[in-house]
Amino acid sequence: MSLNHVRPWRDIYRRKSRRIMVGNVPVGGDAPIAVQTMTNTLTTDVAATVAQVQAAAEAGADIVRVSVPDEASSKALKEIVRESPVPIVADIHFHYRRGIEAAEAGAACLRINPGNIGDEKRVKEVIKAARDHNCSIRIGVNAGSLEKHLLEKYGEPCPEAMVESGLEHIRILQDNDFHEFKISVKASDVFLSAAAYQGIAEATDAPIHLGITEAGGLVSGTIKSAIGLGNLLWMGIGDTIRVSLSADPVEEVKVGFEILKSLGLRHRGVNIISCPSCARQGFDVIRTVEALEHRLEHIKTPMSLSIIGCVVNGPGEALMTDVGFTGGGAGSGMVYLAGKASHKMSNDQMIDHIVEQVEKKAAELESTQEAAE
Ligand code: SF4
Repeated sequence: MSLNHVRPWRDIYRRKSRRIMVGNVPVGGDAPIAVQTMTNTLTTDVAATVAQVQAAAEAGADIVRVSVPDEASSKALKEIVRESPVPIVADIHFHYRRGIEAAEAGAACLRINPGNIGDEKRVKEVIKAARDHNCSIRIGVNAGSLEKHLLEKYGEPCPEAMVESGLEHIRILQDNDFHEFKISVKASDVFLSAAAYQGIAEATDAPIHLGITEAGGLVSGTIKSAIGLGNLLWMGIGDTIRVSLSADPVEEVKVGFEILKSLGLRHRGVNIISCPSCARQGFDVIRTVEALEHRLEHIKTPMSLSIIGCVVNGPGEALMTDVGFTGGGAGSGMVYLAGKASHKMSNDQMIDHIVEQVEKKAAELESTQEAAE
């Protein structure tokens, strides 16, 4: 259940899944929905990859995935894992050796499909390496790379084929008494993804990694992911998410968090409520919000801020936010604290002033939380 249980129309009942560990991050059960991204640097360029992992972690990523296409990347992975502030998932395709090397290099999880890495002996070797190194596995079914026998059976990628593929990979792990796995059934088509995820959610209790694959650029990919992931999360499906964008991994993390924040499933940083602005605005809302988004990026404590152009909606929104500003006349507006009108502030100084007020409120919330722990 979400934290919004005092308002039942906001409740989301999460599907009950098993909990596994990806390094020190729990995934599944009642663990917070983990946000992931993936690096796009050359894995062999350790400095660039570590910098990208750190930037993603700073933006809130709980887990970061790194491609391991060759032996040199396996070697680099070891250093990346050592430097990373978050668990690293090694992305492996077909090469069972890379899977073993990645587990030995300290990967917290292998993204590998056990049905695609060769004979039983190889599968057993990879599973043994994962077990020996406390490494979980993500089965990653993708509509674009379904097994030939399933395409022949079903004629085209469809939800049933994706679920069957997932269950075949799951069976291999279970037959080897390996249960630390999660699963994804991704497609670039929102309908296909959503139907496949609903099918797999019913067929297994494994934790689910959600994603709409190859979703597109920043704007179109964000919308596609918000619709696809948003609907599934709303149904209670999904234990970890990755938003795939043709954009900086930091953007993927920000979008992932915004989707979870919109549904009240996770909270991080300042949630800015702002109006679109119109001729009634008492100050430049758009420019102010842009500046504040940038100036408040360092705040990690969940809190809310309303920036509203005029009194039509300003006082009402301010009632429900920690800090608020509503445009007035004659070059100044009203500052609200904890929902109450507090003092006037001139438009010229309001950005600095709001940053100060938000920082003060964040420090207050942090110390209350520390005292409660
Ligand atoms: S709150 Fe005021 S300024 Fe903002 S869009 Fe509404 S009427 Fe316009």
